[in-house]
Amino acid sequence: MPIYRDAGFELFDAETTKNAFSRETENERIPDFYIYSRYRNPTVIAAEDEIMRLEGCKWALLTQSGMSAIDTALSVFQKAESTRPWLFFSEIYGGTISFTDSVLRKRRGLKIHNFYPVNEKYDLNEFDLVIRDIKPELIYIEAISNPMLIVTDVESVIGLAHKSGSKVIVDNTFATPVLCKPLESGADIVIHSATKYFSGHGNITAGVLCGNDTALMKDAIEYRKFVGHMISPDDAYRLNTQIQTFEIRFREQCHNAVMVTEILKNHPAIRKVWYPGLPEHPTHKEALKLFGKKGFGAMVTFDFSGKTDQDKKRRRDVFVKAVSDRIKIIPSLGDPKTILMPVESVWGAKYPEPGIIRLSLGFENPQDLKKIITEALGKTE
Ligand code: PLP
Repeated sequence: MPIYRDAGFELFDAETTKNAFSRETENERIPDFYIYSRYRNPTVIAAEDEIMRLEGCKWALLTQSGMSAIDTALSVFQKAESTRPWLFFSEIYGGTISFTDSVLRKRRGLKIHNFYPVNEKYDLNEFDLVIRDIKPELIYIEAISNPMLIVTDVESVIGLAHKSGSKVIVDNTFATPVLCKPLESGADIVIHSATKYFSGHGNITAGVLCGNDTALMKDAIEYRKFVGHMISPDDAYRLNTQIQTFEIRFREQCHNAVMVTEILKNHPAIRKVWYPGLPEHPTHKEALKLFGKKGFGAMVTFDFSGKTDQDKKRRRDVFVKAVSDRIKIIPSLGDPKTILMPVESVWGAKYPEPGIIRLSLGFENPQDLKKIITEALGKTE
């Protein structure tokens, strides 16, 4: 696929021009109907086709970032006359939470509600009561949450939401279509930060929204065009190249996550490990239901033991320093190499425990990774 860097495309005659403009939101693959790269671009379409194959859906629209995909997905449900509230599960990406507060609530005046887990698990009986009570227009969830890796029973949430007449958006960034495909369970829109596993090399910022409903697609195409959220052809080209290895990469990352979970779980310096594949994880049952035997993701969170907060902090810092040549603190995930985040430094108000670390597993050699982590843990004792 060439990289079409053209801003505008030749439209040949007045009739073609008219047809191209009038059928623009149909998203037809007719070469003569490309108008302008902020609307639609052949290189972008080629990458979108790959994502449609992965999510098994009728349409996919790429955007400049995960946040612009989220803005587009949400905005297509915003109507001037709409007064019904939107319900966001509370354990979602911090940037999305800030967006709901700073933009949706404070600037756009929308009524935003949150639904909180109890003991690191969403209670769906309670959820059913809440949605019957507030009758949300829209419900927003993540399949696997950050940083405690709470798995949402996506199927049941969609079932209950639709019964109450609410639409559902699922952020599937952490689970990816390798583990689950929420559109098959009836989700209205699935979004991804393609910055993460889809591009997978920490070198592209991109997002995508996917769906099956043509009316939603048309609205999303229009919104993406009006606000200029379109991805660049160069980024789409690179994404299309890198996404070819997505499934292989992600499976290796999941294997490394299982391997590291085993090391951590059996180590005396570790108080607790959160990984949805562990039977003791609060949402292991949901993970089994949603993912079957496909895996449990490539993120692992763990907490150092210690008599005092100072002890825990000391262990965390010794570990971070000991791995720092090979495992860096990088505020992202899904990279080729394992990267980490000290949880309290980022989510302190929500997760103040000083010993917690979130790992995003890479697809490096498992034996190397085992050695790095085992040796670093040894230094914390
Ligand atoms: N959704 C999730 C789950 C994320 O982790 C992130 C970013 O970290 C986003 C959305 C936003 O994506 P981006 O950084 O590509 O805008």
